[in-house]
Amino acid sequence: MALEKTLAIVLKTFDWSESSRTIAFFAKEFGRIYLVDKGGKSIKSKRGRVLKFALLEVTFYDTKKESSGYISDVELIKMYDLSGDGSLGRLAYASAACELLEQLLPKEEPQRTLFTYFNLFMEKLNTAERKSLPALFLSFFLRLLSQLGYHPSLGYCVGCSEEYEKIEVIKRGGFASFSAERGGIVCPSCQTPGDYYIKLPADVFADLLKLQSASLKEAESVRISFGEASLLLEALIKFLQYQADISSKIKSLEFLDKLKKTELTSE
Ligand SMILES: [Zn+2]
Repeated sequence: MALEKTLAIVLKTFDWSESSRTIAFFAKEFGRIYLVDKGGKSIKSKRGRVLKFALLEVTFYDTKKESSGYISDVELIKMYDLSGDGSLGRLAYASAACELLEQLLPKEEPQRTLFTYFNLFMEKLNTAERKSLPALFLSFFLRLLSQLGYHPSLGYCVGCSEEYEKIEVIKRGGFASFSAERGGIVCPSCQTPGDYYIKLPADVFADLLKLQSASLKEAESVRISFGEASLLLEALIKFLQYQADISSKIKSLEFLDKLKKTELTSE
């Protein structure tokens, strides 16, 4: 068994007994991997703790079998404690990001650029002003989609490639019609009667478009309310359900509701 060492962030934990569990990691050198954590939950364990929302250095035995191996040691490199103003929202966005990565990352395929970007995102979630959080999350979501090859067409109609700026209804400040099934916005002449479109108000759509090419630093200055973010997230999640091969349910849909409640209870 080879001993491997990698930087990693926990995506999900699967408990299978009181003392043992399997942990899904996003590892810098290995992409999405699953490691068995034997006895790591025990308070007697001398080993470093496997913490959520933290950059860890994980040493593990690679068994080259169905699970990727066994955790040997864990060292905390950096904690993203997310305890700032609007902590519930920060935690909810961080959880949703982990969930999306667990669902979407290809297994055991390094994604170093995305790994670095994810750490930057966690850092921003930790430090940004609360009102920047929705835009930061949307920006992360759009980047994740693009990096993994799912790029929603926002700048052009998916039917005739007309630029969004020339689509009359958007120009007039009306709305953009987004089709999750067709993978982007659809101009009125390309729309099929009876098809389902998510109507995105022109100004909210403009923010989404801006975020598609924004750095996290740029995204930080975009102001999107939690309500507007819910609408945009609904569009992106529906898009994902059509475009990506996702069999299980995306809990982020439930998370949307949680967020709405967060907004209601904390503002
Ligand atoms: Zn068109």
